[in-house]
Amino acid sequence: MKILVMNCGSSSLKYQLIDMENESVLAKGLCERIGIEGSVLTHTPAGGDKWKCESPMPTHKEAIQMVMDALVDKDHGVIASTDEISAVGHRVVHGGTAFSASVVVTEEVKAAIKECFDLAPLHNPANLMGIEACEAAMPGKPNVAVFDTAFGMSMEPKAYLYALPYEYYEKYKVRRYGFHGTSHDFVSHEAIKFLGLDPEKAKVIVCHLGNGASVSASIGGKCVDTSMGLTPLEGVIMGTRSGDIDPAIVQFICNHENLSVDEMLNVLNKKSGVLGLTAGLSSDMRDIDEAAEKGDQKAIDALEAYYFRVAKYIGGYVAAMNGVDAICFTAGIGENDKGARKGISAYLGYLGAFIDDEKNNVRGENRIISTDDSKVKIVLLPTNEELAIARDTQKLVK
Ligand code: ADP
Repeated sequence: MKILVMNCGSSSLKYQLIDMENESVLAKGLCERIGIEGSVLTHTPAGGDKWKCESPMPTHKEAIQMVMDALVDKDHGVIASTDEISAVGHRVVHGGTAFSASVVVTEEVKAAIKECFDLAPLHNPANLMGIEACEAAMPGKPNVAVFDTAFGMSMEPKAYLYALPYEYYEKYKVRRYGFHGTSHDFVSHEAIKFLGLDPEKAKVIVCHLGNGASVSASIGGKCVDTSMGLTPLEGVIMGTRSGDIDPAIVQFICNHENLSVDEMLNVLNKKSGVLGLTAGLSSDMRDIDEAAEKGDQKAIDALEAYYFRVAKYIGGYVAAMNGVDAICFTAGIGENDKGARKGISAYLGYLGAFIDDEKNNVRGENRIISTDDSKVKIVLLPTNEELAIARDTQKLVK
């Protein structure tokens, strides 16, 4: 069975065609600048060269047609006909409280995704556009929605309620949802398999540290708590997002800088995080690492703050679960930045958790990176959200 995985943003679309026989990627690619001048598709067949194709893509509909054409292209394609695609799995950012698992898309599901537009105004409309464009391009083919928020639905009220007037929860569903759920779900289950932990009782903390970053705690693969909240702004320090702050800062800065709340939220989402801490140097950890190595004090402080904050979340989650079996690192920084893994793990000695520098000198492969006598396993486990989406899709359409 071949599954097409789609991740639609407002002006971009990422895809992978996965052969579920052996879970291999047949082709992957990206459409950029959808709805903007200069739209371009970059398509890479497995084992082949990148192929760029510029063509107007006023909407996601044209973009998806380009993807279909690329997949069957006589020179760069990997299938003879789109009939070979059994189903399409879509990443959908917000499922509200309606979805605690992936579902086959129906009219009701689309209506529920629409209902969450105000909870994820940048993502959900694009995700729905992608679904509708696939329905139009491949009539009758099943589409599956895989929600970033589904993993967080197993949180109990004590974890998901904000201490706000209850009516906001009742009227507007203002609560903590959590994001990166597909990744947290995938990595926590991989950890259980890889380490041979008890599938019912394993206490696992996953640090998904990419451009966006979040930490989760799960018992038996079920989310107990996770660091992102109503939106992805809450939690640890990220590339450009502030993570947790005193909410009164919003009013304080708005008054001093004459900003609207929307403008301030833009600052918190796009100009904060390590980018903000380094006075605009970069949101990319590679640049911050390099600057810190050269002695840039702001970069050194940004790294320290980043590690400190993740470590505090880990500590909080150990308390929340009354223990931990494994602490996992994943995503761009978690998989590639040994300095970040070491800097964060330096705070974990009280748990009897110690990193092994030699084992930590690794990138992007499943590996235990703690010392042999470490009481808690520290593990590097690459995430694979596309494969997780494809697996869910296969399960639902089989
Ligand atoms: P996204 O949240 O966009 O999916 P990724 O998980 O791809 O992000 O992570 C991207 C981030 O990973 C980059 O911004 C960069 O900070 C970090 N990164 C990638 N490679 C390295 C590396 N070798 N060292 C440090 N950081 C890295």
